Amino acid sequence: MTSKESILGVKVTALPIETLLKDIEKRIQSRDKGRIVAINPEKIMMAQKDEKLAALLNQSAYQIPDGVGVSIASKLLKGSIRWRITGVGMMENLLQLSNEKNYRVFFYGAKEETVVKAIEKIKGKYPNLQVAGYINGYEKNEEVIVSRINEAKPDIVFVALGSPRQERFIDGNMQRMSAAIYQGVGGSFDVFSGNVKRAPYVFRKFGLEWLYRLLSQPSRLKRQLALPQFLLLVLKEKFQKGTR
Ligand code: UDP
Repeated sequence: MTSKESILGVKVTALPIETLLKDIEKRIQSRDKGRIVAINPEKIMMAQKDEKLAALLNQSAYQIPDGVGVSIASKLLKGSIRWRITGVGMMENLLQLSNEKNYRVFFYGAKEETVVKAIEKIKGKYPNLQVAGYINGYEKNEEVIVSRINEAKPDIVFVALGSPRQERFIDGNMQRMSAAIYQGVGGSFDVFSGNVKRAPYVFRKFGLEWLYRLLSQPSRLKRQLALPQFLLLVLKEKFQKGTR
């Protein structure tokens, strides 16, 4: 899979979701492993200070542009990404695909009651979905987790531990797991369970999910301060490039 842009040293896949889904299907059919990471300004900022995290993100098969900050940066750096693929949106697409094609999905992460409720809601929407199994995100014994995932024989594993914990879990264990596709989905199980509401349509339409999240969870302010810092760094890179 080519077509990647680099934003402050972090790769972002510049392909529409339809192309990604076709590529993912090919991988599932040929058991060719790949992981999906959602790239947002916060993660790009973390990667500036953490080379290992940067390498881990860059070595993933798919880096989806999660959040308006990434498409603004792409535009500033003369890239082509003008769209967003959120982690939860990607997961929704994979659930729909799995429901149609009988792919088996596994859920690892979040609190027990959250993951159970999320699966119940998802099954309500996708009745043919093959749920291979689940484990809550507070089971920490990796041997137990990996063997339970392998016994369940999933095609796709969703990992909802928050970042960068979920990326590290996938990176550290992917080699010994048999599933083809691994996606780190952050707080998505909370969204599917109904515990956390997705931003209303108007906020999504104008790329203002971050504002909605901030208004509903003011404690996220500290994390969101990564956005202005990120844009400043992107502008700096743009002007440095321009003067070269
Ligand atoms: N979580 C978990 N195990 C842990 C820590 C967190 O399963 O040891 C879960 C937590 O219950 C929540 C998710 O990870 O469902 C983190 O969501 P957050 O919104 O922080 O993730 P983000 O998308 O912002 O990375």
